[in-house]
Amino acid sequence: AKPIVAVVGRPNVGKSTFFNKIAGKRISIVEDKPGVTRDRIYADVEWLNNKFTLIDTGGIEPNNNDIILSQMKRQAEIAMDTADVIVFMLDGKSGLTTTDEEIAGILRRTKKPIVLVVNKVDSNKLSEHFYDFYTLGMGEPIPISSVNGLNLGDLLDEIVARF
Ligand code: GDP
Ligand code: MG
Repeated sequence: AKPIVAVVGRPNVGKSTFFNKIAGKRISIVEDKPGVTRDRIYADVEWLNNKFTLIDTGGIEPNNNDIILSQMKRQAEIAMDTADVIVFMLDGKSGLTTTDEEIAGILRRTKKPIVLVVNKVDSNKLSEHFYDFYTLGMGEPIPISSVNGLNLGDLLDEIVARF
C-alpha cells in the first residue's frame, strides 16, 4: 500500500493551502476564517517516483474554541494512528503559540516520523521568531511558503526520505 502523509496543525496555519498546492488542484476549501476544511481530504501525490497519499485534516467547527481544540486533538490522534509520516505545520507569521505546543504534546507520543514545517515564510528572510520553533525539540523546522511555492521541493524530499 502507498504510504500515508497527514498534515496536522492548528487552524489557519495553511494546511489546506499547502494541500491544494501539492495536489495541483483546488480540493480543500481555504478560507480566511480559521479552520474551515470539510472533513479529511485525500490526494494521490507522486514525487521523484515516490507515490503517497496526502491527507488534509480539518472538519473543524469555526467559532467555538472548545470544539476546535478537541477536534484538533482528535485529528492529531487519527494522524498518529493512520499516517506513516506526519507533517506538523506551524505559522511563521504568527510564531509559536500555546496551541502549537498542545498539539506537539500529543504528537510526541508517537514513534512515527514527524516533519516540522513552518509555513508562510514568503521570502528568503526568516522572521526573528522562526528560531522559537526549535524549542519544540522536534527537529529542524523547514520554512515553506504554500502561497508562492518556496521550498516545497525540499519539503517533499524530506517527506519521501522518511518512507
Ligand atoms: P488551514 O486552516 O490550516 O487549512 O489554513 P488555510 O489553508 O485555510 O489558510 C489560512 C489562511 O492562511 C488563508 O488566508 C491562506 O491564504 C493563508 N496562507 C496559507 N498559506 C500561506 C502562505 O504560505 N503565505 C501566506 N502569506 N499566507 C498563507
Ligand atoms: Mg483547512
